Amino acid sequence: MKRIVILGGGESGVGAALLAKAKGFEVFLSDKSPLSESYKKTLSDNQIEFEEGQHSEDKILNSNEIVKSPGIPDKVDLIKKIKSIGIPIISEIELAARYTKAKLIAITGSNGKTTTTLLVYHILKNAGLNVGLAGNVGESFAKQVINDTLDYFVLELSSFQLDNCFEFKADVAILLNITPDHLDRYDYIFQNYIDSKFRILQNMKPENDFIFYQESEAVAQELAKQKYPVNYLPVSLVGDVQEGAFLQNEILNITYKSQKISLLQKELPIKGTHNAINAMCAILAAKALGLSDEKILEGVKSFQSVEHRLEPCGEIKGVKYVNDSKATNVDSVFYALGSFDEPLILIMGGVDKGNDYQQIEDLVIKKVKALICMGLDNSKLTDFFTEKVPMIFEVNSLKDAVKLSSDLSTEGDVVLLSPACASFDLFKNYEDRGRQFKQAVAAL
Ligand code: ADP
Repeated sequence: MKRIVILGGGESGVGAALLAKAKGFEVFLSDKSPLSESYKKTLSDNQIEFEEGQHSEDKILNSNEIVKSPGIPDKVDLIKKIKSIGIPIISEIELAARYTKAKLIAITGSNGKTTTTLLVYHILKNAGLNVGLAGNVGESFAKQVINDTLDYFVLELSSFQLDNCFEFKADVAILLNITPDHLDRYDYIFQNYIDSKFRILQNMKPENDFIFYQESEAVAQELAKQKYPVNYLPVSLVGDVQEGAFLQNEILNITYKSQKISLLQKELPIKGTHNAINAMCAILAAKALGLSDEKILEGVKSFQSVEHRLEPCGEIKGVKYVNDSKATNVDSVFYALGSFDEPLILIMGGVDKGNDYQQIEDLVIKKVKALICMGLDNSKLTDFFTEKVPMIFEVNSLKDAVKLSSDLSTEGDVVLLSPACASFDLFKNYEDRGRQFKQAVAAL
């Protein structure tokens, strides 16, 4: 019997274990950290052997295939050992894709994945399709294909998931943008990260649709190198495109196989230019799947904004508070700043991931009246922005940041939490940071 070992016991690992077990494999799951009680129960209930708090090599190196959690870097000793022996390492996405007949809509990019994935899912679901949501969001893809009852899956894919995909094939792919991120996992070579994102195209055929934001510099450069055998559907903010989509005079224009559909940007429930890109990508995907214009527009207009992504969370004395805690890199702050015309009180800071603040320098100078740096070490931010903004402050809690914002603001201002940094110096994760922000706002 073929033995499959799963490394990592989170949502994707446990799902992979359940699928492998259901398909008759001998399964062993191993996690270096403790597993949650509910996952342990699920594994036991399904007679799946597992260990936590350690990796027992004798039980791992004897497997035929390894399913690795995207969170485990290639440079750890165990993975190096597995590679040297030559055991194939795949992702949960690769495993699950083997067992489904559903059409796959795969979405990747450095920013905007979750928003676009949820939007596509919402449009399809609203149109009555039998559709699932998986990848980086929601329930594990593997678990959802055990009985293979769905017709479509909308998948949010990170570069780490794509790294271990080989036979996986998307029917519709969306590549939103590529900007430097996670370089610590790619030997600090940007090209390696770009290559990883482009794996979304592997195995696609001429009849499959490839939707991409054409002004993303890294995407454009990479596409100039070679022609992929897929149906190109560019999305643009500057030019008129024949097949694809573009934004002009605040109108979204979408063309698929010569059929046109358009809507006003102000009809979108999600704000900002970046969200116009996300919406155009989502609408193209829906067109590619043959949905009616009526259903598409109905879906787009009824979409609810996503928590922690430019999420409005209150207005007090004419000052609006916006939670963009998910903005953990400079590019997303760039788009956040571009979404407001009001004077801004900007809260940034946390764990710097090698940020270059030049990209947002002009926008900050133009729009920010006070910058609040919130982190254990704010030196990089203060060094860069001192004397470029009228006021700069340092705090190390959200309560203080929000209190200070409220003192500094006047009617018509926007207080924006858009940190450009990871959160783990002061918070559990970006969700925790966003929630604390909302609580502090509510307490005002
Ligand atoms: P991801 O899942 O790729 O991290 P999210 O949808 O969670 O993306 O959004 C993350 C951050 O990026 C948010 O702060 C959001 O405002 C910003 N963002 C969303 N879409 C885009 C885009 N197309 N380009 C740049 N930034 C974006």
